Amino acid sequence: MHGATPSGARNYRAYTKRNIDHLPQLEKLDPDERLSMKAVAQVLPFRVNPYVLTELIDWDRAPEDPIYQLSFPQPGMLEPDDLARMRDLLARESPETEIDAAAHRIRVRLNPHPAGQMEYNVPHLEGVPLPGMQHKYRETVLFFPSQGQTCHAYCTYCFRWAQFTGMEELKFAHRETTMLVRYLKEHPEVTDVLFTGGDPLIMSAAVLRRYVAALLDPELAHVTNIRIGTKAISWWPNRFLDDPGADDTLRLFEEVVRSGRHLAFMAHVTHPRELATEAAREATRRILATGAVIRAQAPIVRHVNDRASVWAEMWREEVRLGMVPYYMFIARNTGAKRYFEVPLARAHEIFGRAFRQVSGLARTVRGPSMSALPGKVLISGVARIGEEQAFVLKFLQSREPSWVGRPFFARYDPEAAWLTDLEPAFGARKFFYRDALDEILAARRAPAWHEPLRSRSPRAEFGSVEWE
Ligand SMILES: *Cc1c(COP(=O)(O)O)cnc(C)c1O
Ligand code: SF4
Repeated sequence: MHGATPSGARNYRAYTKRNIDHLPQLEKLDPDERLSMKAVAQVLPFRVNPYVLTELIDWDRAPEDPIYQLSFPQPGMLEPDDLARMRDLLARESPETEIDAAAHRIRVRLNPHPAGQMEYNVPHLEGVPLPGMQHKYRETVLFFPSQGQTCHAYCTYCFRWAQFTGMEELKFAHRETTMLVRYLKEHPEVTDVLFTGGDPLIMSAAVLRRYVAALLDPELAHVTNIRIGTKAISWWPNRFLDDPGADDTLRLFEEVVRSGRHLAFMAHVTHPRELATEAAREATRRILATGAVIRAQAPIVRHVNDRASVWAEMWREEVRLGMVPYYMFIARNTGAKRYFEVPLARAHEIFGRAFRQVSGLARTVRGPSMSALPGKVLISGVARIGEEQAFVLKFLQSREPSWVGRPFFARYDPEAAWLTDLEPAFGARKFFYRDALDEILAARRAPAWHEPLRSRSPRAEFGSVEWE
């Protein structure tokens, strides 16, 4: 099943909750499992394509198969009561409006609101907020092209699910690059622009060109690095093979490189199997042939990749194929509740065990890292001083550049799963950055922040971009 792509998997077709019953592969699951899966698919976004179905999922191992876990809704993603209610509605063949209403009520409750981050990350131009962008770290601006707000197939643990579930009022969109270009012209400190989404490579070559080519403006010579966050290499490699526009896309990449800029793919690769197909390998070769660099990153996710051997194999494969291992992220606790959670202590242990198995070429990877309110926080070790055991933490990125690299300590807690679960260690009353962070956030919250904005650009309420 990991051989060349059979012709049937070459035409893009999305399966969603509407046509889930047409999937022959699901007949292998027992009826009870199917019902639960369909019940969850009513609430959380579900979309899978023929390539993931036929080339990546090992159906003999479903439902435990990691790629199945990664792409199909799982019963554990809902609270037992919610699951029971949705199962009941489906089993009774209730009217669609009733099912949708029940699903909507659950979604609203699940809606993660991590500390209203958009209030702090959305930049301004002449006092007007630019909701299609985030500028959290000095050097890098994230840009969310409006046409790139979906994906070739959805990852079950994705925290961007609110954009995918038809909650229109929650949709984030930004139609023009004009504002981006104007903003960048006023910000010579920005060296990197990261296109993100969804998946920007869902866009046609022509639309992608409109966005990317705008950055090749001679007045933007300070923007030396253009990055594209994508899962297309492993989730729909045909995007670079014989999809319409594949060649045009590759030509665009060449033009970026020829302009003297660094073109980086921030490839989302969660499991080594995603790199085992000939299609993914050929896509990788073609991208690299344009002069682009592919850096690979992923969250650590329970049921999918929470084993050291999986990460070691993945990093080795990445290096062999010419990719650069980049980040292991801690997955934020999102709509899928605790189903995918891996505690910090365990993630650190898995990272360490994997890291020690690979050669220096794969040790470009850093992690596990949390993209939290103050910045990207690395769990760099566990230390014992006297009687007290502590996590050794440091910023890989932060709102205030001077925080980067300075070690700080949190009380060891085997259950802690996010920065907000941690307390300072060794008698400190607060983390060193606490007061400065409050000041920065208060300043960024300046008068231009007003309520209507929130409904216009809630995308960023789901936090900063963590693994793309
Ligand atoms: C991760 C991230 C970046 C990019 O950080 P690098 O360490 O340079 O890859 C930029 N902005 C936000 C909000 C991020 O979360
Ligand atoms: S994790 Fe990335 S590729 Fe997966 S659904 Fe979310 S945005 Fe799309």
